[in-house]
Amino acid sequence: MCAQELVLKQRTQILHALCSSGSAEYLERVLDILLAQGELMWEDYQNIQVTGRELYTKARQLLDLVYTKGVDTCKLFLATLKQVLPEEQGLGLSFSGCLFKLIEKDEHKSISAQTLLTGRPVLVSKLQGCIDDALKALVTSGHFTSADCNEVQLPVYTPTQQARRLLDHVRSKGESAVNVLLQYIQQKQELGLPLDQEKNSPPKEFVRYQKKLSSSLSSQSCFLSTYGGTSHMPLDDIYTEGQLELAHSVDFHGPLGLEDIVGMVGTTNEEADTVLVSGEAGSGKSTLLQRLHLLWARGVALQDFLLLFPFSCRGLNSEHRELSVQELLFQHCCWPDREQEEIFQFIQDHPHLILFTFDGLDELKQSFSDEHRLCCPTQRAPIHILLFNLIQGSLMKGVRKLVTSRPEVVGPVLKKYLRKEVLLKGFSPSGINCFVRKHHNDPTVSAKVLASLQTNTALLGLCHSPVLCWIVSQCHKELLGCGDGSPQTITDVYLMILQHFLQHQSSTTIGFGWLKEHQETVRHLGQLAFEGIGATCYIFSGADLETCGVTEKDICLGFLTQSKGMSSAHSKHYEFLHVTLQCFFAALYIVLSNNINRSVIQKLFELKDMREIGKRSVCFTACLPSSEKQELVLEGETTAAETPNLHITATFVSGLLSRRHQSLWIPCCQSSVLEKKSRQVRRCLSKGMQKHFKSIPQPVEGEKKSMHAMPGFVWLVKCIYEMQESRIAQDAMSKLDVDHLKLTYCNIGPVECTALAYVLQHLRNPVGLQLDNNSVGDVGVEQLLPCLHICNSLYLRNNNISDEGIRKLIAKGIQCENFRKIALFNNKLTDACTQHFSHLLKTKQDFLSLRLGNNNITAQGAKQLAEGLKVNHSLQFLGLWGNKIGDTGAEALAKALESSKTLVWLSLVGNGVGSVGACALANIIKNSTSLEELWLTENCITRAGVECLIEALEHNTRVKSIWLRNNDLSLEEVEEMTRLEPRLTF
Ligand code: ADP
Repeated sequence: MCAQELVLKQRTQILHALCSSGSAEYLERVLDILLAQGELMWEDYQNIQVTGRELYTKARQLLDLVYTKGVDTCKLFLATLKQVLPEEQGLGLSFSGCLFKLIEKDEHKSISAQTLLTGRPVLVSKLQGCIDDALKALVTSGHFTSADCNEVQLPVYTPTQQARRLLDHVRSKGESAVNVLLQYIQQKQELGLPLDQEKNSPPKEFVRYQKKLSSSLSSQSCFLSTYGGTSHMPLDDIYTEGQLELAHSVDFHGPLGLEDIVGMVGTTNEEADTVLVSGEAGSGKSTLLQRLHLLWARGVALQDFLLLFPFSCRGLNSEHRELSVQELLFQHCCWPDREQEEIFQFIQDHPHLILFTFDGLDELKQSFSDEHRLCCPTQRAPIHILLFNLIQGSLMKGVRKLVTSRPEVVGPVLKKYLRKEVLLKGFSPSGINCFVRKHHNDPTVSAKVLASLQTNTALLGLCHSPVLCWIVSQCHKELLGCGDGSPQTITDVYLMILQHFLQHQSSTTIGFGWLKEHQETVRHLGQLAFEGIGATCYIFSGADLETCGVTEKDICLGFLTQSKGMSSAHSKHYEFLHVTLQCFFAALYIVLSNNINRSVIQKLFELKDMREIGKRSVCFTACLPSSEKQELVLEGETTAAETPNLHITATFVSGLLSRRHQSLWIPCCQSSVLEKKSRQVRRCLSKGMQKHFKSIPQPVEGEKKSMHAMPGFVWLVKCIYEMQESRIAQDAMSKLDVDHLKLTYCNIGPVECTALAYVLQHLRNPVGLQLDNNSVGDVGVEQLLPCLHICNSLYLRNNNISDEGIRKLIAKGIQCENFRKIALFNNKLTDACTQHFSHLLKTKQDFLSLRLGNNNITAQGAKQLAEGLKVNHSLQFLGLWGNKIGDTGAEALAKALESSKTLVWLSLVGNGVGSVGACALANIIKNSTSLEELWLTENCITRAGVECLIEALEHNTRVKSIWLRNNDLSLEEVEEMTRLEPRLTF
């Protein structure tokens, strides 16, 4: 095969070899050599190396360019790859016939800009140890300014990248600058000085500081705070791995470990320093950071970082002074006993050895903005300005920053500054198992809890959220004691923990009317929570507690915990065990309070500013400096943090005001007021839904009427679910008239599936339900079953579904008359699920479309599918793109489909199918009266296979095209075959 074809055919592998490490080093070395060899012009190089462009895009552009330059350039390119890539990286690549000898060019023959190109690889290696001195020489000679130096020495660059930027910069300054640089290098060599003079070893005092910081971090992070109220739980004993995913992963599919969060994998913007971990409230973000802190402090993780500075944004809300970065680090994290300046200097000089973590950006009072720029680490500024500039990288460039937040508040402005985004998706089913076992010392108790979860899959779905898993485990006695009435909704679970904590303190056993006995406590805590939500306040001083009437006894119940790092002997500060508990208490307050403003519920559902509706008399001293208190309250300025909390609070209000919980409140409130609030909630939900339905555009003629869920739709569905009144769901769905419901990228997990199925089952007409790119998983699939009968098509691409989920789905699907199409591209399916599809095909003679692309189905699975296909008389679309069925699988399918009168479209792209398979498939073409398209791209079909297909096409006029790109054919063969049969596309 000629070099050009080799480059084309191996494109994916070459891209992977060059870029998968996430570092630009291999690509840049290849570029160095190609420049040096004269294969790339300087303009070519500049066209590729556009600042801000993604690594993969650069590499693709290089491949395109090399290809268009012809065979010789391709040969040289392959030889360069062979030289640059380490053996394991280049594994599997063929360089055959391309072993060009790269010519060593002497960079000192002519002192000119050309020398910088021809000698580039050597110069890069010589320069990397002495960038500082080379820059000094250029500044002294007047060729460089300090701005030039800064550009070259951006801390995001590795030493080799700095060397390259230096060369590029010198070139742009002209011949005389080039001469200065080359002379400098020559002099150094003549003097025999080692070029690498970087002083990396930290000062003595630094090591002492490092020890102090890690020991304080270790003691702060070894216990889990949710257990603070009742018992101490060492993090080591309970920590369970959560599910981490890259938000934008194209090429990475393995599981992500803790170290990968700050590592190179999945980096989308190498210029940026900030990694974001986003996840819903209770998904485990704070706990994950706590784990990282602990592991770093013990010296077992993140050891590339010499210092780790942890910050909590809710804590930073209480910092009202203006601070410099130095003060922020030393006063908020750890004070150096000596040599503060020297230590800070070392930090500034070695930013890549430092990590900052910021927990809960969503809880900061101010929303992220990049309007106010600050570059100087000694300049003082309000805390949020410091934080935003650190995140952007205008302050302390090169220091890695790890930020956590709820996804709702991460806007496009912040996204611009992200190095990458990692999603934390709570526990997997095995994570739930593991957590429950760790939580209970007694294995018989954990076995019982797990068994009860298996019988209540709605609750199992809820346990994917670690905070709910914690509550369920904590309340195992209540759970196991409640028999058939076990919790179904989030509100049920939080009522259970309320009862649990109250019971703990009660001398008598709690019976019917348990809330009445404690209503004052609940009201006080409720007021604190409610007004805190209104003021974006999560940390409360003793005075705040007093204002709301919270007593020492109330504190002892365990819902509040002392804030770490903010409490001292004289002034204690408190926070709710978790923000969701604060929302729950705020909701309790809305329900229980007789004198709450009448518009509260309406405003809550319309997500209006809560400050307007809260009592203005209370301003939390822990949150606001006194001068700003009144101002902020009156300004009614909204913050990003509020929306998710209002969402959660409204969800709880819906649940608490449902009929089934009314008996709890009746002893505590006037029933007429309660009834009114409950009616208000129903009205709000109905109005909210209608607003969504109004947004549905009229379909273009001939197209289906489709609704793409707007933000807030799933939340309303969840609120309806919390009420557990099918009338409300029925009413809502009676007004929805669509053919297709699109809920892609809506963060739908098992909990949302439960709510969706509860509501959608009342739809009047069948729909196509599109749930692609969510986190449905096997538990979610099971939750969807109650609405399967109204789905004519179900799209579940990229949803982490395995064979077990499919087993349950199909068992129900075969009973559903409307169910005709399913798409499961990119899940975790193997041959263990094909027997179920086979059964489906045998049973449902009206099934139309089966798409199983990008899974793990082999020849064995294809054979099983073939069993079903043989007897099916309806299937029109069969997609198996990106599996591994090979020739044997293709043969089995071909045999089964030979006499199909319905199949219109078949895809076996990327399945390792060779000519044997192609010849078998030719038999379908010979006989079929329905097939229109056959996709065989990216297989290993040779001339013999294509000849079979051509021959078969002679007898078939129905087939429109056969796609054969990227198979084992030479350019000449491709040309010849295209001439013979224009329906073949290569
Ligand atoms: P978030 O910061 O996302 O709101 P948290 O980290 O505060 O969530 O988690 C809430 C609670 O859930 C924790 O206090 C703890 O009880 C439990 N939890 C969260 N993640 C884990 C984990 N990985 N292992 C064990 N428990 C966890």
